Amino acid sequence: MICQLIGVKKTYPMGDLTVVALSGIDVGVDAGEFTVFAGPSGSGKTTALNLIGCLDRPSSGQVLLDGRDVATLGDDALGQVRAKRIGFIFQSFNLIPVLTAAENVELALRLAGLDAGRKEKVEQALVDVGLKDFMGRRPNQLSGGQQQRVAIARALVKKPAIIIADEPTANLDSHNGEAILDLMRLMNERDRVTFLFSTHDPMVMARARRVVRLKDGAIVGDERMA
Ligand code: ADP
Ligand code: MG
Repeated sequence: MICQLIGVKKTYPMGDLTVVALSGIDVGVDAGEFTVFAGPSGSGKTTALNLIGCLDRPSSGQVLLDGRDVATLGDDALGQVRAKRIGFIFQSFNLIPVLTAAENVELALRLAGLDAGRKEKVEQALVDVGLKDFMGRRPNQLSGGQQQRVAIARALVKKPAIIIADEPTANLDSHNGEAILDLMRLMNERDRVTFLFSTHDPMVMARARRVVRLKDGAIVGDERMA
């Protein structure tokens, strides 16, 4: 199993109150999965993805990556895991505006300390997402759909164990959203890239191979498609 949450609870202090974002959930993701966390706004999807992505630590319970409890890792080791083993795709693309598409992708390799064959890897990743002719453009010279393709290339280029995508189609129209989902699915089937993503959109849920349903910080369903 690539990653596993065991009895994971996450609470946030809010003045005198405590918000329970996750109420103690158990879920794991195996290599090769194409899994979505589905649920309405506020159900805990982002919190769960951030914990699996080591962007945050649980209030209680365990987060295992490659079978190791991430709580046993110091900040430096955790940073290395994040840079090398996990690719992130965000709802708002999160590209660096002053860098070209190629430079945005290359930065992910630099941050992970993956220096060998950097130029070739960047090119291949951008070709893979259909942006061969757009490598020198900056984000504001690209459409939303193209920006999200750059973000996918940036996640793919490290050949991470898992790519985590938080509502990757939420800022795209339905045509571009479907194209992005198709691209992710192609990478999953062709290159066995593991994807874990989130959505509240039924079109996106319908394209997943496993749907984990969240409601009020709890898992209320876990279904695998044929
Ligand atoms: P989703 O991604 O499904 O919309 P979230 O994981 O963002 O859900 O949020 C789950 C719950 O935790 C919500 O009630 C939200 O308001 C709360 N929450 C999330 N992040 C924070 C935070 N940093 N501080 C306080 N409450 C938060
Ligand atoms: Mg969210």
